[in-house]
Amino acid sequence: MLKAYRYRLYPTEEQTAFLNRQFGSVRYVYNWALALASTTYQTQGNGVTRFQLDKRLTALKQELPWLHEVASQPLQQALVHLDKAFTRFFREKKGYPRFKSKRGTQSATYPQGVKIHWENGVLYLPKAGWIRAVFSRRFQGKVKTVTVSRVPSGKFFASVLVEDESQVPDAVPETRECAVGGDLGLHDFVVLSTGEKYGHPQWLESELYRLKILQRRFAKTVKGSKNRAKIRRQIARLHEQVANRRQDFLHKLSTDLLRRFDTVCIEDLNVAGMVRNHTLARRIAQSGWAEFRRQLEYKAQWHGKHVRVIGRFAPSSRLCVCGYYNHDLPLTDRQWDCPTCGRHHDRDVLAANNIKRFAFVEHDTGRDTPGEPGERPPVDERRKP
Ligand SMILES: [Zn+2]
Repeated sequence: MLKAYRYRLYPTEEQTAFLNRQFGSVRYVYNWALALASTTYQTQGNGVTRFQLDKRLTALKQELPWLHEVASQPLQQALVHLDKAFTRFFREKKGYPRFKSKRGTQSATYPQGVKIHWENGVLYLPKAGWIRAVFSRRFQGKVKTVTVSRVPSGKFFASVLVEDESQVPDAVPETRECAVGGDLGLHDFVVLSTGEKYGHPQWLESELYRLKILQRRFAKTVKGSKNRAKIRRQIARLHEQVANRRQDFLHKLSTDLLRRFDTVCIEDLNVAGMVRNHTLARRIAQSGWAEFRRQLEYKAQWHGKHVRVIGRFAPSSRLCVCGYYNHDLPLTDRQWDCPTCGRHHDRDVLAANNIKRFAFVEHDTGRDTPGEPGERPPVDERRKP
């Protein structure tokens, strides 16, 4: 199986300057190739092949000698990345590739030539030399690629993708008894069909408050000033802290769920409905759900377990087990009683149970979820705390 390991790097000043040049060159080549491919796409209606781009890159390097000063493989790798981005655009109908910005995380990917010396705590990068690194965990297996990056707060990392030759375990059989449904929301991060509720981490609110203050301060600074750069770094550091603690929370939760259950059923979030809302809290929640799903899926694969994702518009918090559909349930009502069968419902727990139910119906019958599609308001309106 492929596994990724991430290590912090501590380059010297000289190495930092070099890596920054390396990132700049990778970004330059990527943007140059994207511009070239876009022109071709606009004028001829098709993309440019990797082969063509490789040939053009050789010519470009003769025009721009400074491209020779950095390692060449990450430059070629930039073309591989662009090629993948175009494949996603053409085949999977994902967004059109975007230009890489100077701001944000910078990176360079090395397909080979990287060496690791565990005992000395150093990592070798072509043309940059041995860089001090902290190896939190060792791995065994074959290195596929190494991606070196600089995050907005200024820290450097190396992500090592390793093929460890281990086999994917046989999947355990699925039963409704060993399955759990999870309803993702803004009020609670996830509510389980067992009735358990996992709130959003408590620290989130105070960090968001600090972030707002910093952003307000940032808006008042003069462009290009030292103070502006300083506050930008502070904001980046805070974002990083939020991201790290969130990762921690999500890892614990996803591991715990897959340890307890064989199948985890969640909803495919209505992403299109979500992006209309731009508040920070929602953006963070939304990316949290996406990351949660990603973690569940790869961890399920590691352990031979299952994740079932159901379609978007299942009317899950309004549909009673008896079949009664509560059309008039206001968003503010967190609980309701079924007039037909008398059952009492907590709407989030009901939603989680319906997600589990639908996940098995979809799976068993191959049919789409029952209920009344389209009846459901978009997620952002629905999840108001
Ligand atoms: Zn009922």
